[in-house]
Amino acid sequence: MSRQNEIFAKARDRVALSREEAYWLWEEAPLERLALTADEVRREVVPDKNMVTWQIDRNVNITNVCISGCKFCNFHCKPHQTERAFITTIDEYRQKIDRMLELGGDQLLLQGGLHPRLGIEFYEELFSTLKELYPQVRLHALGAPEVAHIAKISNISPREALQRLVVAGLDSLPGAGAEILNEDVRRAISPAKPSAREWLDVMHEAHLMNLPTSATMMYGHIESPSQRVDHLLAIRDLQAECPTGNWGFIAFIPWIFRSTGTRLEQEGVKSHFSPLEYIRIIAVSRLILNNINNIQASWLTVGKSTAQLALHSGANDMGSIMIEENVVSSAGAHNEFDAEGIQKAIREAGFTPQLRDQLYRKREYRTKLNE
Ligand code: SF4
Repeated sequence: MSRQNEIFAKARDRVALSREEAYWLWEEAPLERLALTADEVRREVVPDKNMVTWQIDRNVNITNVCISGCKFCNFHCKPHQTERAFITTIDEYRQKIDRMLELGGDQLLLQGGLHPRLGIEFYEELFSTLKELYPQVRLHALGAPEVAHIAKISNISPREALQRLVVAGLDSLPGAGAEILNEDVRRAISPAKPSAREWLDVMHEAHLMNLPTSATMMYGHIESPSQRVDHLLAIRDLQAECPTGNWGFIAFIPWIFRSTGTRLEQEGVKSHFSPLEYIRIIAVSRLILNNINNIQASWLTVGKSTAQLALHSGANDMGSIMIEENVVSSAGAHNEFDAEGIQKAIREAGFTPQLRDQLYRKREYRTKLNE
């Protein structure tokens, strides 16, 4: 068997690839064969071969105050910019959650900045209040950098922070803030964000506690191809350490950096979206991440037709209709779907849409509007 056939056979059988094999897939493997093999694996991994899942949730930003200074983010502001700074009030949450429930959503994606003064008690109070008001709503909240930051300013360990957040109502931890898990890249694009090592450590703690998580990658800025491969391998290797039977990373979501109006753009780093490169990323992710079952096509950042192609190249999920999103849309991604639109897009691509929850359990699509 030729070396190329050997690598494809290993990938096809979901055997962990070596760095050299993974790198070859990324750099040299023919795209058509990559996509076909990734599609084959996806059809084997996902229980109902023709099913493509989607979700309804609502993104609410807890605050826009952030000391991280990510150069790809137009959304945040510094603590002294009082005319822009906000902390969402309980009344505002109520309005947003009520609307989300009307539209059939079941989850809040709560994200915010690294606020210098909001410690663990603030988040405990917030999560428990929201759970008291809406026990049926799942809280998919924060991210590894926020947890590391909250732990630091509260003088507790990330483990204690996670434990207390779970007691207060945290249901799952999003994979946000991974960008590219390389310390040099991170220092350059997110100077004051917790390190790549901290991202991995917080996720590891979450896996030990059996808190469901997801993983992401933001590509297309200053990273090299080998740093992308290393990112995928770091996620795969961390997942391999997850105790058997625990949730670990339920899904992987790659998205492209959008440069419009960002500091990176001012420094000469512009995004160049290539649908073919995105398809390669989806396919390679499916093959390298042999221990993560769900690969999500991020329609929000790549648009409908590329997301549809991704469904034939290893992706099995179309993500959420995302009732409110601020970070990527403020940097130039303006793709929109409603519930009908996302299902139509999935059908057009040749699949059957299935509404799901964060744990990929099937849900029935019911809204106040179609009752
Ligand atoms: S992406 Fe998140 S962590 Fe980075 S500056 Fe924006 S709000 Fe802060």
